[in-house]
Amino acid sequence: EGHLRFEDVWFRYDEKREILKGVSFDVPPGKTVAVVGPSGAGKSTLSRLLFRFYEPYRGRITVDGQDIAAVTQASLRDAIGMVPQDTVLFNDTLGYNIRYGRWGASEAEIAEAARLAQIDGFVAGVPDGYAAQVGERGLKLSGGEKQRVAIARTILKAPAILVLDEATSALDTFTEREIQDALDRVSRGRTTVVIAHRLSTVVNADEILVLDKGVIVERGTHDGLLGRR
Ligand code: ADP
Ligand code: ADP
Repeated sequence: EGHLRFEDVWFRYDEKREILKGVSFDVPPGKTVAVVGPSGAGKSTLSRLLFRFYEPYRGRITVDGQDIAAVTQASLRDAIGMVPQDTVLFNDTLGYNIRYGRWGASEAEIAEAARLAQIDGFVAGVPDGYAAQVGERGLKLSGGEKQRVAIARTILKAPAILVLDEATSALDTFTEREIQDALDRVSRGRTTVVIAHRLSTVVNADEILVLDKGVIVERGTHDGLLGRR
């Protein structure tokens, strides 16, 4: 499960301009497809269509063969997990913030998600110890730490499809490398769509699509695309 397809998807926000012009691609279960391209190419619009914030006026998007137009937004949010550019945190404990990924999660599951996301303090793994401390920490988490919380939430949620929308773009190079490692672990074996500005952040993708002005202008692997330049 988790087979995602865009089939000849056309989209415009208004009559003035086409934003996506016949976009087709296939993400087989467990594979990672990256969409790269300049600002304004239509990358974020792809993820908005995937969550049904908007509908294509032509073509369709399917998950496991089912047109998402026939699926409620609520069940799409269950099936699709997103690590956004900027993560919104509650002014509460780190544990509470991670549990937001799946309210029914046990303390052990939260601790394990935190360990996998490499959140400091959880690594030692004393649930009651961290819960008390982190209330005030939540207020001053760095960008990288926030992303780790988003990753831990996603691990708990275990969605069939994962969307990473410029998930490391706001981070410094060193933190970006670390978060990238954690994201690689989460996406391994999971159907994943990565939205990125630069080829260098999507080295491990099974396929890379270059989107420009709403059209896929090139597709290939990281090395293949570089070799063609
Ligand atoms: P990217 O993520 O590649 O930077 P976007 O999908 O955000 O591109 O935007 C693609 C184009 O659609 C841009 O030209 C942008 O200005 C336009 N756009 C985005 N959102 C809206 C909107 N709500 N209404 C009208 N135009 C929009
Ligand atoms: P941009 O890249 O244009 O600044 P955002 O990073 O804010 O846009 O988010 C891209 C899009 O992803 C949003 O417009 C929204 O449709 C969708 N999105 C963001 N966060 C979530 C979420 N938690 N659940 C579902 N969809 C989301």
